[in-house]
Amino acid sequence: MSEGGEASSNGVLYVVATPIGNLEDMTFRAVRILKEVDLVAAEDTRHSRKLFNHFGITTPLTSCFEHNEAQKGDYLVDLLRQGKQIALISDAGTPAISDPGSLLVQRCVEAGIRVSAIPGPSACISALSMSGLPTDRFCFDGFLHSRSAARCRALEDYRHEQRTAVFYEAPHRLLACLRDVVATLGEARQLAVVRELTKLHEELFRGSVAEALEHFAQSRVRGEIVLLLAPAEKQAPAETVEEALERLLAETDQPLKTVIKQVAKEYGLSGSEVYAMALKLKKGSAGV
Ligand code: SAM
Repeated sequence: MSEGGEASSNGVLYVVATPIGNLEDMTFRAVRILKEVDLVAAEDTRHSRKLFNHFGITTPLTSCFEHNEAQKGDYLVDLLRQGKQIALISDAGTPAISDPGSLLVQRCVEAGIRVSAIPGPSACISALSMSGLPTDRFCFDGFLHSRSAARCRALEDYRHEQRTAVFYEAPHRLLACLRDVVATLGEARQLAVVRELTKLHEELFRGSVAEALEHFAQSRVRGEIVLLLAPAEKQAPAETVEEALERLLAETDQPLKTVIKQVAKEYGLSGSEVYAMALKLKKGSAGV
C-alpha cells in the first residue's frame, strides 16, 4: 500500500488520529490504514488493543512512548527504510500533539521517509471550534506547569496576548490554575473551559475567570479539560498619535524616519499618514 507522493522503496509513516472519547469519531480511513500497515507504533499497546478489538484490527502493535521514543525511533526508521508501512497512534487524539510522536516524525523527515497524516480528533481544535472564542488567530501551548510559581510566570506572557490561547489541564489542577489566572491576568479575563469532549458529560463553560472559579468550586472537577483564554482586551494607548509623535521627536535623537516607523507600528497607521502628521506638527511649532 502507498497513498500519493513519489514512488520510493521506503515505507510511509502514517500519523493516525484516534477518538478522544467517542469511538464513533474513528474515521473509515484510519481503520483502513491501521488494518493495512505492517506495524502500528502505539503509546500504550494495552490501551490500543481495546480500540483494535472494537474495529477488528489485527495488525501487530509495538510500543512507542515518551521514554523509549528515541531508541524505538531508530528501530522504526530502519523498518521504514526496508519498505515496511508503519502507523503511529497515541492513546487518544492526534499523535505528536502533547503526545509522543514528534521525535519519530522528525527522524523520518530527516531520513527522507514520507510521513502522512490521517486526520481526526484533537482536543485542542475541537475545544476551540466550540468555545465561541475568536478562532481566526490562536496559539496552543500544551499543558501549563504543575507548580504554581512556574505556572504564574508562564501566564504572565498572556497579559497582552491578542490570540485565543489553548491549554490542556488536569482536572485536579483546574481550580489552582484558575486562581493563578486571577492573580496574573485579573478576574475579569474571559475564558472557556471545555470538559469531556465527545463524551456523555461534555460541558462548555464560558465567562470570566472569577465566574469559572465560582462554577467549578461547587463540586469536584472530573474528566478531561481544555482551558481557553480569550484574547486580552485591547488597551487604548495612553497618548494620541500626535502626542506620541511630539514626545518622541522632542525626546529622542533618532532620525525622523525611525520615529515615524515606530509610531506607525504602535498605532496601526501607514508611514505616510504619520509622516503627514509629523509635517503638520513641525509647521505648527515653526509658527507657519
Ligand atoms: N494528542 C491529544 C489530542 O490531540 O487531543 C492530546 C493528548 S494530551 C496527553 C491529553 C489531554 O488532552 C487531556 O489531559 C486533556 O487536557 C485533553 N483532552 C483529551 N481528550 C479530551 C476530551 N475528550 N475532552 C477534553 N479534553 C481532552
